[in-house]
Order: sequence, then structure tokens, then C-alpha cells
Amino acid sequence: MSLRPPVRYRIVPKDLSGHLYEVTLTLAEPSPGGQRFSMPAWTPGSYLIRDFARHVVLLEAHAGKLRVGVEKRDKHTWQVAPCAGELTLRYEVYAWDLSVRGAHLDTTHAFFNGSSVFLYAHGRETEACEVDIAPPDDDLYRDWRVATSMPRAANTPPWGFGTYRAANYEELIDHPVEIGRFTLAEFTAEGVPHAIAITGRHDADMTRLTRDLAKVCAQQIRFFANPAPMTSYLFQVTALGDGYGGLEHRASTSLICRRSDLPRTGEDGVSESYRTFLGLASHEYFHNWNVKRIRPAAFAPPDLAHENYTRDLWVYEGITSYYDDLMLRRAGLITQAEYLRLLAEGITRVLRTPGRQRQSIADSSFDAWIKFYRPDENTPNAVVSYYAKGALVALALDLSLRLRTDKRCSLDDVMRALWTRYGMTGTGVPEGELERVASELSGQDLRAFFDAAVRGTGDPPFEALLGPFGISFQLRAAESDDDKGGTAAKQPARERAVLGARVASGAETKLVHVYTGGAAHKAGLSAGDLLVAINGLRIAGNLDKLLTRHAPGERVQCHAFRRDELMTFTVTLDAAPLDTCVLTLSDNADDKARSQRDAWLDGPR
Ligand code: ZN
Repeated sequence: MSLRPPVRYRIVPKDLSGHLYEVTLTLAEPSPGGQRFSMPAWTPGSYLIRDFARHVVLLEAHAGKLRVGVEKRDKHTWQVAPCAGELTLRYEVYAWDLSVRGAHLDTTHAFFNGSSVFLYAHGRETEACEVDIAPPDDDLYRDWRVATSMPRAANTPPWGFGTYRAANYEELIDHPVEIGRFTLAEFTAEGVPHAIAITGRHDADMTRLTRDLAKVCAQQIRFFANPAPMTSYLFQVTALGDGYGGLEHRASTSLICRRSDLPRTGEDGVSESYRTFLGLASHEYFHNWNVKRIRPAAFAPPDLAHENYTRDLWVYEGITSYYDDLMLRRAGLITQAEYLRLLAEGITRVLRTPGRQRQSIADSSFDAWIKFYRPDENTPNAVVSYYAKGALVALALDLSLRLRTDKRCSLDDVMRALWTRYGMTGTGVPEGELERVASELSGQDLRAFFDAAVRGTGDPPFEALLGPFGISFQLRAAESDDDKGGTAAKQPARERAVLGARVASGAETKLVHVYTGGAAHKAGLSAGDLLVAINGLRIAGNLDKLLTRHAPGERVQCHAFRRDELMTFTVTLDAAPLDTCVLTLSDNADDKARSQRDAWLDGPR
């Protein structure tokens, strides 16, 4: 171990209206041949090359008082000329990305991920880092505070400006920082201090919120068995009029939600929108174990300059998506029936994706960098979500293990084994390890299951798997474009004519997706076409209503603009497919089925 001083950073929100941070990086003993620095090309947890270096402006280097030459070597690497003594880099970073992945700065707050603002010094990535977080230089912001899970130096007050520390660069960029006038509430779960900091205008019932989050957190800490892997935890929330997203970190998560998703004082029960927020929080919290610590060998450590490939992203995102809502059920925040409704909506989402028959979740994981994170008009036809289908494969694996071993083994046991073998020992999980561990613990040959569901494009046999748990599986046609599934049909069954396309909501009927093999595809309509009339009648934003005048199999004339050219298409309308799932608790389930169901949905008692 070297006794060199830590790599030191100083960051200050410098020009709030211009969205500029000023960052100073001080490095003792730079490489004698000339020190190199780079900005990450991506940020862990979000699998897309984002080239954060594009927001770096005005970079200069000094050794003592002497200016030192700097040359750009590639899109995100700077080479500093050989120099003696302490080297200081000063640069500005433009921050106007209001997402959980980037950096944002204005007169209302400051937020950054280290991967957007901190360069790393080549060869020094494993050395300790220190960062001074400084307030804006203006009395207007005197009441701003700092919310981050990064450990504080002894002289930095809680939630205050000052010095923070990380053991290495990877840790430095794994504690995003929120600065501003956030609402703060604290709670404990299984003895671990937790906090939630909410930025943005909101009127959330903080008492209710902390009480419910505490249940979810405690449930998960107990699931993986005490003690929790982190000594404290922070939910960093940005509440907006509209928005949704989350990114997991080792002791915190950054969430973006609608302010209407937060519970208001006097509101009881868990509304659909509040359930969305709790599900997101539960998802990111489960990542504390699954992906942050039970992490693929491919990311241990991550190569921040390039894509990091794994066919197992579905294990980390799909299984986490499976457990996020299940943990709400097991924590008692939603009922079994409410959970089944969410599950049915998830099944519906996947059944409406033709791409699930073209791409496996293993391939979707591998190609996340160019496909899942870069969706376009053809995505539903070509890509399957390793989140959504991954969650269903996790469900099918869990139920299969429970059935084949008569409850002796479940996915819960497999996750706990991955935790003790890999998470607790800090070892990267080899590719395909989930299948090996599940086979070993259950004593079952699972190759056919993984060949079909993971490496192949099969749909899990939902009906056969859910039946023995006393749950009936039904498929019906969607009643409208807004029908997400999960509930019985509101109207008596009636064949509905559809175009086989997704249209944008709003006044204009623009085709967003044209599904492979559907009526619109066969007629030659394309994504981007603006539908204006059916059989000479103006659509005027209400395609669903106009289509009720027609029956499946009927031929209609559609007028549509492609670019600025009016075109005519003859469309033979489809019948709405049976792609909408409803799951119900069977009244006549026997004791064995009920006991299987309760063990699964309520967890160990
Ligand atoms: Zn996730």
C-alpha cells in the first residue's frame, strides 16, 4: 500500500444559470512520463455508452504555479505533459440532464453522479479519494444542504458541505450527491439508519412514507438474513410533474417520480400511483444485494471506457423486477389479489411484445447497449425486455422449483445462496451461475427450462405453473388501447377490430409501432404515418371509437400522411388478440394449493 495522499477533488456549483460545475482534481506524484485522465463512457447500472466527457469544458493543468500542457488522446482521455510535484486539473462540467444517470444544476438544486463530473487518474483508480463539496458562492443558497451516502470526514456536519471520502474511484462514483432544499426524513429498518430526501415541489405525507418504506426495507434485510450489507441507506428522490426512473448504488438510490405518486396526508390504502413509487423503491433496494454485491464477474470491476458484456443482465434486472412487487406483498403493503393483478399486467406487457419470439433474454442482455437502451419504432418487433420477460422467467423458475421439490427449494433459496457465496465474499458471479446454483440446490436438471426460457424464446407455461398454487390464468382480448390487463373484462365479450399498431396518445393519430404480421403491417402502413381517416371519416384523435363501427375481417380504406404525402391503404382489420392476462385466486383451491400459495406470496412465517 502506498502512503500517498488521497486523490483530491473539489466540486462547486459555479454558474447555476449556466449549469456549470467547477471541478478541481489534485494528484500527488503524477506519472513521471505524463499523467492520463479519463471520464467514464457510461455509468454502472445504466447500460448505454453516454460519453460523459462531452460535457467537459475548459480543462487546464498546473504543477504548482506552472501551467502544464494537456493533449486530448481520445474522446474521453486527456494526457498531461510530464511534470514534477503536485498536479492540479481544473475543468468545468455542463450539467443539464435531469435524469438519475447524469448531472443537473440550476437555481433550484444541484445533483450529480460522480461518473459525470469526476475524471479518474490512470493507474490510480484503486487509491482513496477525498471530495470537498462546496456551496454556491451566493447568499441566496445559504440554506442548501447535501444529501449523499458518501461517508463524511469527521469535521463535516451531517447533511452539510465539507469533505467526503471514498475508498477508491469506483466507490467515489457510486454515491450520487443531491444539494438543495430537500425534505428530509429518517427511519430505521432492522437497526440500520435510513433516510429519504425529496427534492422538488411536493406535499408528501413523510410519516406514512417512512413507515411504509421501513416495512419494505426490513422485509428485504430479513430475506437475505441480517446483517444488512450497508451501514446506512439513502433514498434520493426527485419529484416532478411527470417522470419515472431509478438507479441503484451501494448505499443509496436516486429515484425520479411523479409528485402524484407520493402519498398525501389523509390518503389511506395504497393507490395505484403510490404502489408504483413503492415498487420502484423496492426494486432499487433489492439491487443492494442483486447486482451491487451479487454482481456479474463482467462488472467486477466495471470497465468504464467500454461496453461490458454479459448474457446475464436478466438475472440482475429480471429477478429484481420479480421481487420488487413480491416484497410489497410480503411486507403486507398489498394483498395477494393486488399482487396477482400486478403480475397479470406484467404478463400482458410481455405477451404484447412480438419481439419476445425473435430475441431471447440472454441475447437481450448481451445487446442491451445497442438495443434495449436505444429503443425505436421497431423495438417491440425485435427486442424483448430482459426486465419484463426476465421477471416472468424468474416467476416460472420460482414456481417450478417449489413444485418440483414440494416447497423444499425456491428461488428465495437460490438468491440467498448467491448472496452467501458471492455477495458476502465480494466475488464476481460467473456467467450462467444462476442455473448451476438452482440445479444444485434443487437437485433438478434445469437445462430444458433454461434452454427454452432464457436461451430460447419460449413463453413460460403460466397456466400449468400457477394452477397448483390455486391461481387461475385467463387470457382475453384488450377492451381498449388503455387496457393494461390484470382485471376482468368490463364489457361482455365482443370481438373488437384492431389495426395491429400502437398509436400516439393525443390529438393526432400517429402510428408509433406497427406490429409484425398485424393488419397495418400487411396493408403497408408504417411507424410515423399520420392516420387521418377511415372509410372517409376523420379520425380526430379517437381511433378506438371509430373502429367500433367495424368488425374484425372487414376491409377499410385508411388515409394517412407519410411525411407530407397523402396515401391510401386498404386494411383488413384484425380481431383483438387474446393477449390480456387475468389472474384470480381460485375459490376451490385445496389445502395443499393454499399452503403452496401462502408460502410463495407471504414468504416464510
Ligand atoms: Zn434495476
